Amino acid sequence: MIDFDYMKDVSWRCQMCNQERPDDKISVHSSDLTKAMGLNDMGDDIVTLNTKYCNDNEGCKKKAQRHNEDMIVKLTREHLSEE
Ligand SMILES: [Zn+2]
Repeated sequence: MIDFDYMKDVSWRCQMCNQERPDDKISVHSSDLTKAMGLNDMGDDIVTLNTKYCNDNEGCKKKAQRHNEDMIVKLTREHLSEE
């Protein structure tokens, strides 16, 4: 028998409100940054941005999505200005 009880002690910090939350209240918003960084020649999903947020807080969820979108825009701009 495998004891999964240790999972109940796992907690994560929301990157949006900076609060420590139990594992089941934290979700991860993942975005593929590969194209934004101009690395798509190397394949897909080379760089992934994982942002943790409170899944019971609509504000944190929206901020996490915005955070990832802003990062993609920023990286795309930087990537294009290098060419
Ligand atoms: Zn939060």
